[in-house]
Amino acid sequence: MIKGEILNERKQTNTDILVRATAADGAVRCMAAITTNLVAEAARRHETSPTVAAALGRTLTGTLLLGAGLKELDRLTVQIVCDGPVGGITTEVNARGEVRGYVRHPEANPPLNAGGKFDVRAVIGQGMLYVTYESGFDIGLYKEPYRGSVPLVSGEIGEDFAYYLAKSEQIPSAVLLGVFMRADEAGKAFVEAAGGLMIQMMPGADEATVAAIEAAVARAPHTTTLIRDGARPVDLLHAVLGDLQFEVLEERPVSFTCSCSYERAVSLIAAIERNELELILREDKGAALTCHFCNETYRLDETALEGILAGSVSD
Ligand SMILES: [Zn+2]
Repeated sequence: MIKGEILNERKQTNTDILVRATAADGAVRCMAAITTNLVAEAARRHETSPTVAAALGRTLTGTLLLGAGLKELDRLTVQIVCDGPVGGITTEVNARGEVRGYVRHPEANPPLNAGGKFDVRAVIGQGMLYVTYESGFDIGLYKEPYRGSVPLVSGEIGEDFAYYLAKSEQIPSAVLLGVFMRADEAGKAFVEAAGGLMIQMMPGADEATVAAIEAAVARAPHTTTLIRDGARPVDLLHAVLGDLQFEVLEERPVSFTCSCSYERAVSLIAAIERNELELILREDKGAALTCHFCNETYRLDETALEGILAGSVSD
């Protein structure tokens, strides 16, 4: 009774949370996240079809989980380069849990699959998964990035992240990613629940532990079923770790956040050659820049362009 009430209360929250935990004396690393709000934000910003919302949402969630251990100044980029109708997905996360991402064709919407579900595999098709870790990129202490890539083995994205971890980072892992869409009264699809978890078996994880986790993962309810019932990230971990005890190392908010701004748009325009800028001012009387990652458009009017030109005279 009481547990149910607490869960209902938690369901009202509109903050997405990421949890990092450890089990089996550090031999198992666990990450879990509820990402309903940030996936809904991404779908709204990019005006995605329901299938693309699911594909982008799973990729954003997988990127957050993979980047859970990032240090300050680190950045992780995931790219799905594929031949399906979505055309490609790019996502990025930093150490502050700020994730952003976009797809090439947000409107792509293949028919439902045989199970009556949005067909993420069909919208992705064949292709590659690229993962890039960068450090110190915004303060000039740039180190050589680490890059890994694997062919897509499933197109359902969760399995593709797991394959990447096993193949490229030699970490056998279970990755569950889910986005649950529902239609409102007007028949418009919205993101009702999104989230996922990642269990990484580090060297030192004994066979019995790995077998126990594999069995628990296999019989765990679907991630979004748990989230719709009000599960928090730790509840997701309980569901897939079975009787295995775990210790929470960190719990923090995560969000869809983009680093673009009007000021950045101005500095990009200011970098255009002077005679070209004069041409834009004369012919278009203004300029508009749209950010790929968040689909925000920044408009610079005549006065703003004249200001930039006047400024460039004085340098
Ligand atoms: Zn942006």
